[in-house]
Amino acid sequence: MDYLYKLKEYSQKMSFKESAHLKLDLLINGIRPDISLKDVPEELYKEYRANLFYNHRENITVYIPGEVILPHYLATDFRINSNSPYCLHYKEGEFLIYKNDEEVTKVIITPRPEFYGKKTSSGKRMSEVANILGLDLLAYVLFRECDFWKDGKQCHFCNIGYVNRNFPKPDPTPKEMAETFKEAIKDKRVKIEHVCFTTGTKRNGDLEAKKLIEVLEKINEYIPEDWKKIYGAALLSPLENTEYIERLADLRLECLGLAREIGNEERFKKLCPGKSQLEKRFYESLKKGIEVFGRGHVGVAFVSSLEPLEETIKKCEEYASMGAVPSVSVFHPGKGSKLANKSAWDKDYHLELYKSLGELYHKYDLAKNKFERPLICERCFKSSLSNEAYLGAFE
Ligand code: SF4
Repeated sequence: MDYLYKLKEYSQKMSFKESAHLKLDLLINGIRPDISLKDVPEELYKEYRANLFYNHRENITVYIPGEVILPHYLATDFRINSNSPYCLHYKEGEFLIYKNDEEVTKVIITPRPEFYGKKTSSGKRMSEVANILGLDLLAYVLFRECDFWKDGKQCHFCNIGYVNRNFPKPDPTPKEMAETFKEAIKDKRVKIEHVCFTTGTKRNGDLEAKKLIEVLEKINEYIPEDWKKIYGAALLSPLENTEYIERLADLRLECLGLAREIGNEERFKKLCPGKSQLEKRFYESLKKGIEVFGRGHVGVAFVSSLEPLEETIKKCEEYASMGAVPSVSVFHPGKGSKLANKSAWDKDYHLELYKSLGELYHKYDLAKNKFERPLICERCFKSSLSNEAYLGAFE
């Protein structure tokens, strides 16, 4: 995997802190893709694929990469913005980021995995069943639709209903997911370290857990005996029957994720009218998750730029004190969401946000897990700077 050697070389020319700050700039401001990407050989970069959320405000083509990997292996979501000062170029076999026509750094783009070109026994392209995110995460979606979109109670920053209307795809079956896993772990271009399951929300998260149990039972048949390095995580909706969490742990799931999004109760109800109805089950699932998986193995997701910083941090600290890991993604409402015309708040706000989060991770000792990071790893966690904050980028 020569591209990793290239990245090591690029990392000599930029410090970890500089790279983390660049990642934050790119998440807030987006990037302009240079047209010449169309000339890049297909196998050299993994194209953007709408997995659950369509992460752009502008039209996309397969010529856009899913993410860029900055020096020090920092996976960074590729958010198109034609007005961004940052631009991605491709010259003589290398990818470069420019700011206002000045080169900032060379970067890499995850190459197109070999399994993207294969098909399941049902004839589905495997790239429609699972995606690689960042350098090493195999990502699945259990269900593409969200129940709250059906009755107009969707979260205001979410565009999953728009994605489903415009890019309809059937949900992958457990068999298709297992067949794709079997090919993906043999891939010569990417080395999978983690497997992650997300889903559109079911009002009753038990439906998601039941499907995940079926998927894990099938996938586990393909995990080699000596393979210790597969870490599974699932972001699920709150469960009615929390006993499913024990079964998921028996099937080698390592981490559970839940979404809270916003700290302030009133804002939460206003901006997430459906999800906020599930609060009682949310707490029960959170407590059970921590009991079963242990401290540092249950994440709670938030989104930035939706409320004053103190409100987010206050709620994050409440969960952190219980042993859960709060994470905050940089706001980027996709096309079709109610907040599509809003932007992430400025860099100073985000610097303060991630500084505070980094302090919480240390104060509550939340990286005592197999990843030794608050959230999986910075090689794949591409929309948030939680891991970078833990590693001291914003101190
Ligand atoms: S619960 Fe909210 S964020 Fe999750 S899929 Fe539904 S609308 Fe989107």
